[in-house]
Amino acid sequence: MAELSGLQVFKYLPASQKLPEGNCKKCGFSTCMAFALKLAKTQTDIELCPYVAEELKSVFTQSMKRPQKEVILGKKHKVIIGNEDVLFRHDKTFINRTAIGIVLDTDEKNWDEKLDRINNFEITRVNETFKIDVVYLKGENISSELIGKLEENFAVLTDESLKKHPIKQIEEKTLPETIKELTEIRRKAILEKDENCSNPVCIYFKHHENMLELMSKASIYLCKYANMLIFEDFDEALISTLMTLRQNIYTDPQKPLQVESKVYEFNNPDENSLIFLTTNFALTYFAVANEIEALNKPAYLVVTPSDGMSVLTAWSAEKFTAQIAAKTVKNAGIAEKLKNKKIIIPGLLSHMKEEIKEALPEFEILVGPNEAYLLSDFVRSL
Ligand code: SF4
Repeated sequence: MAELSGLQVFKYLPASQKLPEGNCKKCGFSTCMAFALKLAKTQTDIELCPYVAEELKSVFTQSMKRPQKEVILGKKHKVIIGNEDVLFRHDKTFINRTAIGIVLDTDEKNWDEKLDRINNFEITRVNETFKIDVVYLKGENISSELIGKLEENFAVLTDESLKKHPIKQIEEKTLPETIKELTEIRRKAILEKDENCSNPVCIYFKHHENMLELMSKASIYLCKYANMLIFEDFDEALISTLMTLRQNIYTDPQKPLQVESKVYEFNNPDENSLIFLTTNFALTYFAVANEIEALNKPAYLVVTPSDGMSVLTAWSAEKFTAQIAAKTVKNAGIAEKLKNKKIIIPGLLSHMKEEIKEALPEFEILVGPNEAYLLSDFVRSL
């Protein structure tokens, strides 16, 4: 059962049924409706109303149950999975990222090389750094020393320890069958609060010959609805792709990722440096910043305050206007430092070139490429 709305709670209260005790204020609120609205948000205690019907208590208790259990893996390095309470990310947000684990079989030859690769694996994207979450140990040669070392950086699982956690393991079948099973489990957990489906779900991938097929399956299960993915294969490209996808899915859709609006300096800029202009949407910023960094040329990047919106979205929502761009550039105080006054605006805003020129008459406005990855070719062509 989904959480109750204030109106649904109100229907059980005396005022809704026009009983004499309705709106009696004994709960500390001036009306039953006020109490209902607070109760629905769990900001008050159901026991404060002496007239609450038993039916409401039972419906309310059921509606307040978390649909999925939270499971904490690891001793020193903790990884949390589960506790999800929506079917779709845009309903609210997904909570605990799908854990990604790699099997380390100590009976395999070269397992220590695999361990080195796991230890060294790390990706940084949009200011966050990701490493492997879980190492799943197998084989006859598991020593407590090895476990101790691994526990410093990973949640360590074995066949036995996995069984001790309330985690449902799903056998990988065909793609449609597995999706169907995962979806049914999540739907029953969220919509019906079915306790038989409340354990987080783990999928174990045996060795795959076809890495592309493995990538497709794992990407789909990560979106719907695996809480943990364990791989016998360790392929850096596969894991990087999954972590990128995971980062996109597990951000809060109501909180745009944004960076501070200011002037960023690259490679010790001087009076001849180029100025690039973009919005403060984090993905846009990091895409552009990485390219500028790689140019190995001194440059400024002016980032406008655009509520974390990407270039075109900001323009259409009037969060990126010529006036905002001009004000940001002027406040940055870089005009005085520069001999070579050239600003490169995003190609997607080429239609704003004249407007920006009017707002910043002392600058030459150059229209850059539509995509950040084309910046180096563009700069070379200048
Ligand atoms: Fe309504 Fe109960 Fe509060 Fe009285 S105590 S106002 S009946 S909710």
